[in-house]
Amino acid sequence: MNLNDAYMMTIDGALTAGETTIDVINPATGAVFAAAPDCSKAQLDAAVEAAGRAFRTWRKTPIAERQALVAKAGDLLIANADEMARLLTREQGRPVDAAKIEIARAGAWMKGVAELTPPVHVLEDSPVQLVEVRYMPLGVVCAIAPWNFPVSQSMWKAAPALVAGNTVVLKPSPFTPLCTLKIGELFQSIFPPGVLNVISGGDALGPMMTSHPGFAKISFTGSTATGKSVMESASKDLKRLTLELGGNDAAIVLPDVDLDAVAPKIFFGAFYNSAQICVATKRLYVHEDIYDGLRDRLVAIANATKMGDGAEQGVMLGPIQNKRQFDRVMALLDEARKSGLVLLQSAAPATGGYFVPVTIVDNPPEDSRVVREEAFGPILPMLKFSNIDDVIDRANASEYGLGGSVWSKDADKAMEIARRMETGTVWINQNLSLRPDAPFAGHKHSGFGVENGLEGLLEYMAPQAVHVARS
Ligand code: NAD
Repeated sequence: MNLNDAYMMTIDGALTAGETTIDVINPATGAVFAAAPDCSKAQLDAAVEAAGRAFRTWRKTPIAERQALVAKAGDLLIANADEMARLLTREQGRPVDAAKIEIARAGAWMKGVAELTPPVHVLEDSPVQLVEVRYMPLGVVCAIAPWNFPVSQSMWKAAPALVAGNTVVLKPSPFTPLCTLKIGELFQSIFPPGVLNVISGGDALGPMMTSHPGFAKISFTGSTATGKSVMESASKDLKRLTLELGGNDAAIVLPDVDLDAVAPKIFFGAFYNSAQICVATKRLYVHEDIYDGLRDRLVAIANATKMGDGAEQGVMLGPIQNKRQFDRVMALLDEARKSGLVLLQSAAPATGGYFVPVTIVDNPPEDSRVVREEAFGPILPMLKFSNIDDVIDRANASEYGLGGSVWSKDADKAMEIARRMETGTVWINQNLSLRPDAPFAGHKHSGFGVENGLEGLLEYMAPQAVHVARS
């Protein structure tokens, strides 16, 4: 794969330039370093039409064959992870080693999804009749991905959609289109023309896609605000919908933990990828007896963690991915500072890049913006608690319900708290761990529908009940 080539869309198996282009910026420098195609309406129509044509054959391809091709694509991604990682670092900002992990894990994820098979439920098999429920694909899927994990989030959609027998038009974020475009190109050696189309474009392309009548289903990952617009747009022609949206995950730390052991894990869960993770810990509730001890350890880790250009050796945390998000995070910090909240901050490089220092907000009021809102940047409010019922209520008092974690040596007590958390995923003594066979579903405003697991696969299918008379 030649990563230095011009970046092209893949439509109906053919590399396709845009009539115009959009700039792609390296967030570590703030400078434009590449151009990506800006898909026109006619090119979108061509992609949807090609996917519709390919669907007729792809849906009839035996599922074992579709699974084998998706697994093969996963292997190809893994084989290209090292080469592609530097490009991912340039467009997304994270360190090269972490970029490699994202790409290789996305490949492994595809292989995991390829092991899922939709069930056939036999409800009655008697001399009178056979009644069974089986699942069929939907048609052309519109897949829209965010900028925080451009490769894995795209493959989380493409892999199950293709295994289920649908065809796909995939759009990465305008901030991070390059690796996904290259993956579209790479996978043409595997999938028949039109089965997986990859297009890119500016802010106008997303709404153009969600209102396109040729799609049977939209799978969207992004902010809750955009998710609401997508849902509105999908309602016009009743497109099926999966929305993976924002989160404001709470971690609850009980007083019996080993502080030295848990502090690095909690830091990682809050700040990995410079906190640009939907399921990052975004509110840290700590029992008052251990609050100071955990806070001091987190501050020490922050000071020992190098932030900078992800292309440099030794850098652990990169910049915020784009200027729009950087401005949002800086405005949140500014307001916290003006409200007199105590901010404990590490150093951030003073370059032209979008760097925000790792910031721990020391016990802010529960109703402050920095607690209520999803920062999606390295700002972590730490809050004290003394009563379990009270802290569970505070953790649940959020419009979001994506993930959460409980930290304790007492497994039974931790499990009891976990069961009371109103979130789609909950971790005990760990965080961020996800797998392709486990459903990932945001409760409340964190989503609509499910990704991953058999439940996620079935979101790309519709049930069909077959009643066969035998007498
Ligand atoms: P975003 O909503 O700004 O954009 C997401 C995608 O939607 C991009 O590709 C964008 O071009 C497109 N888009 C923008 N407006 C659109 C519209 N009106 N119609 C259709 N498409 C449109 O989100 P983002 O800033 O890229 O991502 C950050 C957000 O994503 C955070 O809130 C984060 O929590 C969330 N996220 C959620 C998950 C999850 O699985 N729940 C995973 C990753 C990120």
